[in-house]
Amino acid sequence: MTIYFDNSATTPVDPRVVAAMAPWQTDNFANPSSLHGPGRRAREAVETARAQVAALIGARPREIVFTGSGTEADNLALAGAIDAAGPGPHHLATSAFEHPAVLETVRALQARGVATSFIPVDGDGLVDPEEVRRALTPRTRVVSVMAANNVVGAVQPVDAIGRVAHEGGALFHTDAVQAVGKVPFDVAAQPIDLLSLSAHKLHGPKGVGALYVRTGVKLLPIVHGGGQERGLRSATENVAGIVGLGRAAELAAAEMAADTARLVGLRDRLIESVFAACPQAYLIGHARRRLPGHVCLGFAGQEGEAIRLLLALDEAGVAASTGSACSASHGAAPSYVLQAMGFDPFQARGALRLTLGRFNTEAEVERVAEILPGLVGALRPIACARGRSQR
Ligand code: PLP
Repeated sequence: MTIYFDNSATTPVDPRVVAAMAPWQTDNFANPSSLHGPGRRAREAVETARAQVAALIGARPREIVFTGSGTEADNLALAGAIDAAGPGPHHLATSAFEHPAVLETVRALQARGVATSFIPVDGDGLVDPEEVRRALTPRTRVVSVMAANNVVGAVQPVDAIGRVAHEGGALFHTDAVQAVGKVPFDVAAQPIDLLSLSAHKLHGPKGVGALYVRTGVKLLPIVHGGGQERGLRSATENVAGIVGLGRAAELAAAEMAADTARLVGLRDRLIESVFAACPQAYLIGHARRRLPGHVCLGFAGQEGEAIRLLLALDEAGVAASTGSACSASHGAAPSYVLQAMGFDPFQARGALRLTLGRFNTEAEVERVAEILPGLVGALRPIACARGRSQR
């Protein structure tokens, strides 16, 4: 059996979510826009899910727009807000280490003439709200800073950043794809106008996400058609997927506190055991402001070997990641996330990301803690004599 420590890439679908989704693929496959009984019941299921997602983040159901992914939610938030702002010139500020779903959308907007700023990130993977303030201009329409980074797990001070954005007259969007279900949100009380989330990061299905849009915030759609989702996301709704997201949100709301306490314990046990056995290991990302199950490690002097370490772990039955699933195809190219945090290009090739979720056990942590030092040592034994780096 594989030990799955790659929950930041995607999570196993909770069997309770699978059970909730099943009838909407078989017994009732109706289109929720149909007026007949099965259609009305499908509509009710979509609206129940909307209320469940809203409850998880403290929103009103009307403020939730279902999308086809977290990526699409990010695209809708940024392009939709800029388009709704009317003729330019406009400016948008984002952090230097966002997920490509935000960075590439920003680049596409840049190509359309939107001025952009990339806010620096510190060595712990945190964005300083004062840096956000420095990036603001009178034409800043949107500030977008992720709630938690997918590579290093650092949890951002979104409330302080949102307040700064509002003081500058800008909307605040947060890509909370990695954070929702792990970090509590109460958007009604927080200075957040737009928030993206994705079902497959919280034990729901792939290919469904949502965007929270605060009441009164104007967006234009990026997908045009039949006018579903209040005109913001045309397309026949993915009823089973949406039901799955709703149930996953409901479970996260009920179990977040217990899951968090357990995962923080497992995470810290894993970090301590690796540190005890590997003096060259260092933690990447802030030690305390980090996602509950997120471990990101570097091994001083062996950073160029991250892919080999990953393959050795894979052979030993442990699924992990070098940083981000999205950059796996580029091999050991330096990570732009680590470079944004000030790592040199050599160090930036070497993160090992072990991310735990609801279904990981203490026995699995013990097993990985037991085999990892041997695998690290086998890579380049001489490096084990080097002291722990500052990072
Ligand atoms: N934003 C962040 C921070 C992510 O980690 C991911 C997925 O890895 C996404 C956006 C994209 O979400 P999706 O896979 O649902 O498109």
